[in-house]
Amino acid sequence: MKKFKTESQKVLDIMINSIYTNKEIFLRELISNASDALDKLAYQSLTDGSGLDRSSLEIKISADKTARTLTISDNGVGMTAEELETNLGTIAKSGSEAFKKSLDNSADVDIIGQFGVGFYSAFMVADKVTVVSQKEGETVAHKWQSSGAAGYEISQTEGTGRGTTIVLQLKADGENDNYSQYLEEYTLRSLVKKYSDYIRYPIKLWCTVEEECDCDDHDHECDCDDHECEEHHHEHKQTQQWQTINSMLPLWKKPKSEITAEQYDGFYTDNFFDYEKPLKVIHTSAEGTVEYKALLFIPSHAPYNYYNKNYEKGLKLYTNGVLITEKCADLLPDCFSFVKGLVDSELTLNISRETIQQNRQLKLIANNLEKKITSELLSLQNSDRENYEKFWQEFGLQIKFGVYENWGAKKEQLKDLLMFRSVKEDKLITLKEYVENMAEGQTDVYYVAGRNIDSVKTLPQVEKVVAKGYDVLCLTDDVDEFALKVMEKYDEKTFKSVSDESVAQSQDENADLSAFIKESLGDGVAKVKCCKNSGHAVCLTTEGDLSIEMEKVLNAMPNAQNKVSAQKVLEISTEHPVYQKLVQWLESDKEKLAMAAKVLYQQARIIEGLSVENPTELADLVAQFIAE
Ligand code: ADP
Ligand code: MG
Repeated sequence: MKKFKTESQKVLDIMINSIYTNKEIFLRELISNASDALDKLAYQSLTDGSGLDRSSLEIKISADKTARTLTISDNGVGMTAEELETNLGTIAKSGSEAFKKSLDNSADVDIIGQFGVGFYSAFMVADKVTVVSQKEGETVAHKWQSSGAAGYEISQTEGTGRGTTIVLQLKADGENDNYSQYLEEYTLRSLVKKYSDYIRYPIKLWCTVEEECDCDDHDHECDCDDHECEEHHHEHKQTQQWQTINSMLPLWKKPKSEITAEQYDGFYTDNFFDYEKPLKVIHTSAEGTVEYKALLFIPSHAPYNYYNKNYEKGLKLYTNGVLITEKCADLLPDCFSFVKGLVDSELTLNISRETIQQNRQLKLIANNLEKKITSELLSLQNSDRENYEKFWQEFGLQIKFGVYENWGAKKEQLKDLLMFRSVKEDKLITLKEYVENMAEGQTDVYYVAGRNIDSVKTLPQVEKVVAKGYDVLCLTDDVDEFALKVMEKYDEKTFKSVSDESVAQSQDENADLSAFIKESLGDGVAKVKCCKNSGHAVCLTTEGDLSIEMEKVLNAMPNAQNKVSAQKVLEISTEHPVYQKLVQWLESDKEKLAMAAKVLYQQARIIEGLSVENPTELADLVAQFIAE
């Protein structure tokens, strides 16, 4: 007897002792494995030219009430002894892995249904599981058997023909558990309908059917009026036969008008490891130069690893009904990496994973889908603002990166998807809305970089612009300002930072004072200016392309080597009482003036969220002023 790997054991224990009410999903899991095995075989035959008759591929289910066994078999690739060992002895990839991860974070068993928990789910309903499998090309089969916790055994057995047969010895019924139902034709039928209707291979159930007798008297009619009359009916005898119980036609091949929202949602949650229904479904097809059907979903929330490096984008790619790749990354641009779904296309390609990437048809499909996704998102923005904002909340950052990346290659395509918070209205608005609501005489689009709208509202630079009746966009993410810089303009209106010195357009009113202060501050500031300004004594603006926010972002990059520095302008408000003091000191006490300049400059840095350059010096200076 071999032992399961530790982590497999953990999942297994949970399955065996499961109090989960949704145990029925075991059937979905086993059928989906069988279907995968058929896919693999069909895929192989495309490359090895074995001339497989695809119509012979099938999945069979039969129940034996006396023996309390349920058997699920397929004539797919099958497994060698070694594969039985590695595939069933260790917890596999995909669903099971995600399941295990989430178990580490919570003890909630309800999550079982949300994942493809895989083969081990059989132990939710069975005491003993026997797998007999024969690999294509081999003459013998191998048997894997396990009663759960203790471990498993593998032995050689007589050849049964290519494929895999799984026999479940069902558990005894308990007070709250009815395992016998899984031996009932009715239950099996409805479970297949519910979970596995789109499986592209026939799922055949061993059914009992009423058969008419062989008598010749088919036209026999009695004379009575009573249609319940015995004579009306021929004797019926019961026989058993295989009946295909799934509809097979994949959802995406059905006409849209025949598909309900629930079916789309169910398809999504079943196939893309999500427990929440999607925010939007895009079902589209094309004919002509390139033919395909695509079923795409915008998830309603970002996966836990979405903004990590290990997140893999991609769509499932089927061709001629065979799954070619689970995740074809080339079908999605990075800006839409959150999209889930599949593409089914009659591609004429020499199937090999390398050539797919260069395939011209694939590029055409990808371009079409990108356009489609863009227009669908725009229409969501127009027709369902609430959901669009939800979308923006989850994936807006990715779109903003998309604008910035590759020197703005996609800025035209993505610009109308952008949303920023309006300082005036304190809500998300599009650039189009900003421009539509511009004040008389306003020619530019103003923005302020800062995490938080409340802290930004009271910035002197913002107050100045808002006082003119102009709205200001509040940028919240690091990438925002870079994206706007790359765009330069929207609808011929230039993006201007409120901290850009040119925005103020104010004249220096005291050149002598400014010159002295600039002198005493040295290279830290590019310029000093005394001008009319709102309430605060001082503020920082910048000249040139690099803003203070960009300086912060660039210097915070993990591999920033040379620190960059924005060209800072220290503006001193001539309306503030401090200004009068400074003017006096310029005449009477230059030393004091130099000290005050240092304090005021550091103060302006603090307002901008920059660090104080020399905290001890500042503290000493302030203390000295207080002591006087
Ligand atoms: P997953 O399907 O996510 O890979 P499972 O636990 O469902 O995980 O299955 C584990 C592995 O066992 C599969 O990846 C596959 O290699 C193998 N397997 C399971 N059932 C079959 C089958 N009917 N035919 C061939 N291989 C199978
Ligand atoms: Mg599986």
